[in-house]
Amino acid sequence: MQEFRRVCVFCASSPGTDPEITAATVELGKLLVERDIELVYGGGAVGLMGLIADTVMSRGGRVTGIIPTDLFDDEVGHESLTALEKVDSMHTRKALMYELSDAFIALPGGFGTLDELAETLTWNQLGIMAKPVGVLNINGFWQPLLDQFDTMVKRTILKPSNRQTLLAEQCPAALLDALANHSNSNDPKWIRT
Ligand code: AMP
Repeated sequence: MQEFRRVCVFCASSPGTDPEITAATVELGKLLVERDIELVYGGGAVGLMGLIADTVMSRGGRVTGIIPTDLFDDEVGHESLTALEKVDSMHTRKALMYELSDAFIALPGGFGTLDELAETLTWNQLGIMAKPVGVLNINGFWQPLLDQFDTMVKRTILKPSNRQTLLAEQCPAALLDALANHSNSNDPKWIRT
């Protein structure tokens, strides 16, 4: 099983009101610390982003936040992380998050999370990178999107091999295990550089 050094988590800048989503976010943060994996994320102090960063920091883990200067100046940047990179744009932020990380997890989120998830899948599809990507399908949060991806395959718009690169699990431990196994696969697509 592949040992990750850094996992990037995409998640909502809103807290939401579903206690199971909150609990799963905290659980993932605890697991990252237990497995000695550094968290890379968008650098925000708000919503599920702030919650996972606080969870990892409070347990002695390591967190790197990457945030555009403008967003930080709007006072949503996290002030107490292991490292905070301020960059000039959302594009630079995403490219640096992808470069630093060994794998990607999308927790429940909105448009920002969806953008990051779709972009990592696209970069894998194009061979710009080869790193495992998974969604935490807590309470079926991502099920309609997964169903849509299956529709894309059925309608011959999306290749089955590309669809298969997205992993989905309902609990954080299973998702981390699945990502680790996937990155260790013999498929040349997943030989890490
Ligand atoms: P959303 O899912 O629309 O709430 O957006 C959250 C995702 O977009 C996160 O994974 C971040 O990388 C990015 N993002 C959105 N808002 C912020 C913010 N205020 N501070 C930092 N990152 C943000």
